[in-house]
Amino acid sequence: MMSAEKTPIPAGSNFIRGIIDRDLAENKFATKKWAGSPGGASHQATGQVDTAKIRTRFPPEPNGYLHIGHAKSICLNFGLARDYDGICHLRFDDTNPEKESQEYVDSITEMVHWLGFGWENGKESNLYFASDYFEFMYQSAEALIMDGHAYVDEQTADEMRINRGTLTEAGKDSPYRNRTVEENLKLFREMRDGKQADGSMVLRAKIDMASPNINMRDPAIYRVRRAHHHNTGDTWRIYPMYTFAHPIEDALEQITHSICTLEFEDQRPFYDWLLERLAEAGLLAHPLPHQYEFARLNLTYVVLSKRKLIQLVEEKHVSGWDDPRLPTLAGARRRGYTPEGFRLFADRIGVSKADSWIEYTILEDCMRETLNDSAERRIAVLEPIKLVIDNYEDGKSEDCFAPNHPLKPELGKRTIQLTKELWIEREDFMEVPSKGFFRLVPDGMVRLRYGYVVKCTGFEKDAAGNVTVVHCEYLPDTKSGTAGADAIKVKGNIHWVSTSHAYTCEIRMYDRLFKEAHPGEGDRDFLDDINPNSAHTITAQLELALKDAKPSDTFQFERHGYFVADRKDSVAGKPVFNRTVTLRDAWQK
Ligand code: ATP
Ligand code: MG
Repeated sequence: MMSAEKTPIPAGSNFIRGIIDRDLAENKFATKKWAGSPGGASHQATGQVDTAKIRTRFPPEPNGYLHIGHAKSICLNFGLARDYDGICHLRFDDTNPEKESQEYVDSITEMVHWLGFGWENGKESNLYFASDYFEFMYQSAEALIMDGHAYVDEQTADEMRINRGTLTEAGKDSPYRNRTVEENLKLFREMRDGKQADGSMVLRAKIDMASPNINMRDPAIYRVRRAHHHNTGDTWRIYPMYTFAHPIEDALEQITHSICTLEFEDQRPFYDWLLERLAEAGLLAHPLPHQYEFARLNLTYVVLSKRKLIQLVEEKHVSGWDDPRLPTLAGARRRGYTPEGFRLFADRIGVSKADSWIEYTILEDCMRETLNDSAERRIAVLEPIKLVIDNYEDGKSEDCFAPNHPLKPELGKRTIQLTKELWIEREDFMEVPSKGFFRLVPDGMVRLRYGYVVKCTGFEKDAAGNVTVVHCEYLPDTKSGTAGADAIKVKGNIHWVSTSHAYTCEIRMYDRLFKEAHPGEGDRDFLDDINPNSAHTITAQLELALKDAKPSDTFQFERHGYFVADRKDSVAGKPVFNRTVTLRDAWQK
């Protein structure tokens, strides 16, 4: 048998893979059964040996939109299942009725699919709701009571808190701790039947009020709560606590590796205690699930707390849950971030046991890398001034050929029209050039990308002294792709769009929502760290073909960055674009 220490962990891997490799080498799940649906020991006993080598789960609470932190957990759990011939369940952890809704359920399912993952296994769906297990959870609680492992406590919340003790001081037993099984059962059933008021009593596990782990000092497992539930309606007046519900959910779904964030580490002893007690009671079968903890994602220039995200949306600091500046997955998708980019990011940052901050640039680099590969190239002039080729024939238009993707010749070339009047970038002309400026200057020469070499012959200014028009002459033998193209060597190469073949278009230039790497650090209010320049809209001149871009089509605008046709505000024949990310990192100091 191999031990954890001796099992070699493959390169580029992580400690969780090490654990799975060890478990599989030990044949830990060789006889584990799966009856085709979640259930306790007797249900699973009717099934076959599980064909899934491992089972993981992604268990969101449907009380908000998914964010980039969730993407890490999704890529981890679904990625492990994919790589180990297993299954990852999508389970809505909907045991907390007040804040949950169908709207969140729908958006979560959509985003997990968008990231490229599925929970289907043949005819089996593996999409589950924890609230479907309420009856089993209730029976589990009764079983604990009958075995002397749980009691109904009528102390007030304050008394319970005081008697729980501290890190250095043991807790005190509740005066209700030694009730008889009959009394506990009667009261618990009254709680269930609505005969006890909200908050009047709770069911607690009976473990050890002197445990050094405060979570083991008789944690509450059921509370009275008359609340309407999005799935079970008004059936229940009592609801299980998360710490009680979660291990049971994992066990019913025959999860092998239950992966959660570090703050649950102290809950692991209770997780194991509970499942062992329910196995003793015959409700669950071995092998039982095990919990493993990893460090949650902290990303600079971003907030990933649901509470803060809700505040940004409700106080209208952003336009909604899918505002392209938000770190929600809905926002990131609208911004033009890609599922491939998120999967690359998850692989690159890996999984560890130590909390740390990940630089936002790592995420942006992953988006650049995937977009560089997938996005076709187009031409856009973002801050246009006019260039007039004075020796070019009036009314003439000439085909120039631009490759759709420099690394993928199989994607072919498209035709763009060259005419006498063009749009060029304001920053591509300098009246008095700075050192190292190789673009258009008085009497200087540049290549019009995919076109001719031109020589600057003059320029016009408005009353305020801004250059409005640049004049030039072209050198007829120098067209790109012809024999004469290399006869004249120039250092600069600028892009352009014909003024008579242009699509005038709105572009949203997004930047980071926060100007500080750690928003709200120290005593600062995170809202004070909002970047006041995180969005502005420009009117740009694009090559005409971009008029036909469909919502969510993504392009590299040459020399500028990656842009996506907005999925919400684009209409047929009139797309608007969002800047996804610049070509290079402008924030690096
Ligand atoms: P809440 O405060 O409402 O519990 P949450 O962010 O934990 O918020 P859940 O819906 O419970 O939201 O999260 C679903 C899963 O995503 C959990 O397993 C959780 O561990 C994981 N998760 C949440 N935030 C992060 C993060 N920043 N990094 C990695 N995983 C995360
Ligand atoms: Mg949570």
